[in-house]
Amino acid sequence: MTPGPRKAAAYLGALAGLSLTLAACSSGADPAAYPEDDVEIVVPFAAGGPTDTVTRMIAEPMAQELGVQIVEGAGGTVAAGQVAAEDPDGYTVLMHHIGMSTAPALYGDALAYDPVADFRTVGLVTEVPMTIIARSDFEPDTLEDFVTYVQEHESEVTMATAGEGAASDLCGRLLTSALGVEVTVVPYDGTGPAMEDLVGKQVDFMCDQTTNTTTQITEGTVKAYAVTTPERIDALPDLPTTAEAGQPDIAVSVWHGLYVPAGTPDEVVEKLTAALQTALADQSVIDQMAGLGTTPVELDRATPEAHTELLTEQIATWSDVIGTQGG
Ligand code: ASP
Repeated sequence: MTPGPRKAAAYLGALAGLSLTLAACSSGADPAAYPEDDVEIVVPFAAGGPTDTVTRMIAEPMAQELGVQIVEGAGGTVAAGQVAAEDPDGYTVLMHHIGMSTAPALYGDALAYDPVADFRTVGLVTEVPMTIIARSDFEPDTLEDFVTYVQEHESEVTMATAGEGAASDLCGRLLTSALGVEVTVVPYDGTGPAMEDLVGKQVDFMCDQTTNTTTQITEGTVKAYAVTTPERIDALPDLPTTAEAGQPDIAVSVWHGLYVPAGTPDEVVEKLTAALQTALADQSVIDQMAGLGTTPVELDRATPEAHTELLTEQIATWSDVIGTQGG
């Protein structure tokens, strides 16, 4: 992660022997004056994917509310651990999704951070439906045909994911275990690059958020089989639900939230939460999300309390589902 100008100045100052003065201005910054410099929101996946897309939607109205620039950084899968180790001053924020709650069960002691102890929650952002999609020339035309095809071809079929524990991986596992098949998994740094390969017909299918798939489905550059919500969604009204297509157990949506390192002062968290709520109430954010099949959470869920409650409940749920043997 590249340090913002405030941190870069502090580092240079330290090198020049001015460390005491500038360090006091940096990590010891007055929470009442926050923010005095750019805020970075780090996404733990490659740029161009759905988590990045949602981050970009909220960044501008949050920046206006905070009165500073917000820069986004694609941090890769190690980003959560890196943010946990940053100064708890509110200048480095993590955007993460459901993967924050599956990581403890998947990685056990190998996980470099504790999602609860090492962070403070800022608030939930959105819950995004998933879609099951395939390359445009993949043989099956419906989910029913897809089931038969995958059961007949198993490991010849390739499934793109954003790596173990990613939403695409969870949805893909739900699907393949419901069908009793083992396909060949092709992991990417995020489903942005995975989508490029799906459109390019390099990989067969993927289960991913509507924030990454709606445009391609509408334009016909990929084939779509089903959406994983109980009801059809307005952005893709012709797409059947998994239940309608005979797979009611494939029901999952991907919640997202913002985090800061543990130890971040209350005053800073409160300002970030207020900025998040401003962004989620912004009509252009609501419209952009609607166009991609999702909505902002209700504002009383864009709070640290509601976010922590969901995070802890989801960690317990996924520990039961995945098992606590570690990854
Ligand atoms: N959609 C990805 C996932 O499967 C993450 C991303 O690239 O934003 O979790």
